[in-house]
Amino acid sequence: MRIERLSPRVAEQIAAGEVIERPAAVVKELIENSLDAGATEICVQLADGGKALIEVIDNGHGIEPSELPLALARHATSKIRALEDLERLGTLGFRGEALASIGAVSRLEVLSRPRDGSSSDAHSVSLDHSTQELSSPKPKATTFGHFLGSPHGTRIRAEGLFSQIPARLKFLKSAGAEASAVREWIERLSLAHPGVGFRLISDGRDMLSLRPQTQEERVRAIVAEGQDFPIRMAEANAGPGFRLTIYWIQGMSLSHTRNLVQLVNGRALRDRLIQQAMLGPFRQALLPGRFPAACAFIEVDPREIDVNVHPTKTEIRFLESRKLFTSFDAALGSLIRTHGSVSYVGSDPATRADPPAPVNEPVFGFQERAPETDVPVNVPAPGPSLHPALAGFSPARFLGVLFRTYLAYDLGEELGLI
Ligand code: ADP
Ligand code: MG
Repeated sequence: MRIERLSPRVAEQIAAGEVIERPAAVVKELIENSLDAGATEICVQLADGGKALIEVIDNGHGIEPSELPLALARHATSKIRALEDLERLGTLGFRGEALASIGAVSRLEVLSRPRDGSSSDAHSVSLDHSTQELSSPKPKATTFGHFLGSPHGTRIRAEGLFSQIPARLKFLKSAGAEASAVREWIERLSLAHPGVGFRLISDGRDMLSLRPQTQEERVRAIVAEGQDFPIRMAEANAGPGFRLTIYWIQGMSLSHTRNLVQLVNGRALRDRLIQQAMLGPFRQALLPGRFPAACAFIEVDPREIDVNVHPTKTEIRFLESRKLFTSFDAALGSLIRTHGSVSYVGSDPATRADPPAPVNEPVFGFQERAPETDVPVNVPAPGPSLHPALAGFSPARFLGVLFRTYLAYDLGEELGLI
């Protein structure tokens, strides 16, 4: 084939693919914009899991009618002017491509009325899906309540996501699964902004409703799923420009990592290195395949991180990743030492035990060798229904309990652990 320039439409759609992979990505970008606009109430509505409609309404400062067309243009932003600005970034957005990307893969309409605006009307622009032509800003009379009861704010609607891109559409999951992914992102973002109210309505049904709260109330609502576990908080400073605050939900242990939340400078991330640092102190305390529930707030000098390594901004690079590990080890280590056991609690609410009482002695991994067991233990004698591999685990071969977690058996040539 000869080399030819891609049509602007195709180029746009390819670029959009980096930022927008599913409805949750659209919602994340739109909520970040609402937060950057200083909104205190944000309402998200979905139809068919976001495939038919995604709508985000906020009571933020809004957009001037004359600037509406620019907001939808690629690489147009009000948040940075030069590359150096990334070093002192105070906003969640900076790439200036979210709205353009959403507009490339859906029918996009932006309706806004700015605070102290020159016109009393709200104005709207829309992007024609197939021609990528932008309408000029049209006044639209809004009734009071349009922006969640505020005279200023913005409403963004994206309809028919990927309807023109079947290759993308077929990778979307069921409406329920997409709505859950949206909910998860809203929950993550909401943790960094407890003073902001969030609502999610999916096909007319309320999925999430968060009033403005304190930090700890929001952590309980989201990370502890509203349950009555003790919430332990610790802080660690690794140098002047690096501060970690961690909330650990003691006694909650889950089969997934969804309740491990990372927020760096108010940005919700899914960074592998941070997750590793967060799980490290629990390594000896939890059974394989079980994960704690915790929320880490990292405040770091923007010069120490690079947020511009991933188009969806969900990963970052640390100049000194060692600080991550030392601060998590210090903060979580002290919590585990002070409050004791990370006891096993099933994730199924029906089998959930009561929160454990604090244990006043050091546990898990801080001793040089396994403690002698002086606690009476009920040694299970495997019955005939057990797996044949467990046949050698007879009470006569029982050695003791390790880390209050494992039953150890002498199997002759091998050590057996249950
Ligand atoms: P970025 O957030 O990286 O600047 P976007 O494409 O997400 O890029 O948004 C482009 C611009 O549109 C923003 O810089 C902002 O000025 C404006 N904007 C977008 N959404 C909102 C909103 N909800 N309220 C006010 N202004 C907004
Ligand atoms: Mg943005």
